Amino acid sequence: MWLLGRLAPDHKTIGDFRKNNGLALRKVCARFVELCREMGLLATASVAIDGSKFKAVNNRDKNFTRAKVERRRAQLEESVSRYLSQLDTADRQEPTEALAAKATRLTEKLTKLKEEMGKLAAYEKQMLASPDQQISLTDPDSRSMATSGRGSGVVGYNVQVAVDTEHHLIVTHEVTNSGSDRAQLANMARQAKAALKTETLEAVADRGYFSSLEILACHEAGITVTLPKPQTSGAKSDGRFGKQDFVYLPEEDAYRCPAGEQLPYRFTNEEDGKRIRRYWTTACQKCSLKSQCTTGPERRIPRWEHEHLLEAVQQRLDANAQAMRVRRETVEHPFGTMKARMGATHFLTKTLPKVAAEMALSVLAYNLTRAMNIVGTKPLMAAIAA
Ligand code: SF4
Repeated sequence: MWLLGRLAPDHKTIGDFRKNNGLALRKVCARFVELCREMGLLATASVAIDGSKFKAVNNRDKNFTRAKVERRRAQLEESVSRYLSQLDTADRQEPTEALAAKATRLTEKLTKLKEEMGKLAAYEKQMLASPDQQISLTDPDSRSMATSGRGSGVVGYNVQVAVDTEHHLIVTHEVTNSGSDRAQLANMARQAKAALKTETLEAVADRGYFSSLEILACHEAGITVTLPKPQTSGAKSDGRFGKQDFVYLPEEDAYRCPAGEQLPYRFTNEEDGKRIRRYWTTACQKCSLKSQCTTGPERRIPRWEHEHLLEAVQQRLDANAQAMRVRRETVEHPFGTMKARMGATHFLTKTLPKVAAEMALSVLAYNLTRAMNIVGTKPLMAAIAA
């Protein structure tokens, strides 16, 4: 009311304003973060990075992936064969009026199913032609994404945030339609560092962000990251020794195995764009622990040329038992608040640029109320006016 000089625009005017001023809204959001920094509210160069799935204006039934098309086709085919068999049964019985009505009903249902099959074939064609083999009919930019709840998922956007660990202000955010967080760490951390105008930055994230190349990119940008490594060791899950049971000896450039043998460096090769050094010993054949270690002739340990960065990440995590709790508490605050304000449907607009503007507005509102709670309304208004 105060901001608009007692104007009371209707929902259409508000909707159009939001639609037509997307870029400006994003700039205001970024400018407010700058103001918070100038007011000394972002003095700690420490952020928690996380992503959360926000629902788009796109029903799950209006999103098609290869698996969904196959599932839907199987359902339709099952219905067709059920109706056909009911028609066959009706044909074999003495004709009556009720039976004739039933046959007409079944034929109508079959015609509808045939139409559905035709539509499904058209969607499948579109879906297969799209780059990520997925289409959404209402909001074409939204994507089907898994959420942390078991077996649940949404059609929506993955909103990334970097949140200041002291005051829980959102330093930077980005709306993406990629369901995975794995390639987001360096991008979000770099954006946060730029917004905070700091030389170094501490960033915590969850295991979904663990990517060797992203961690390297953060290191090169002067960002210290702390995050757990996902347990993906096949040997460990098969009950054999995992790589963590082998100790790297930097002076010797060798590994020490659980049997106490040294595995010297052998050769380097390239794998997925990374230079990997390989270590093994010839003592495995006679080792009494071999069955707990490898199914091959010898156990080979791979080491990425920048593995010391990953070891440093693990050491930081071991030294700071609270890091993951701080991360969770920091990011739950803004996501919880924004989702509660947005209600059950989350986004109201369609397509990525408009959704990004809507999110900027939501982030701005969150940061504004956060700043008001921290410094009070009057000092904040004075700082805005200055
Ligand atoms: S199998 Fe080889 S690497 Fe494994 S514990 Fe025995 S000697 Fe060490």
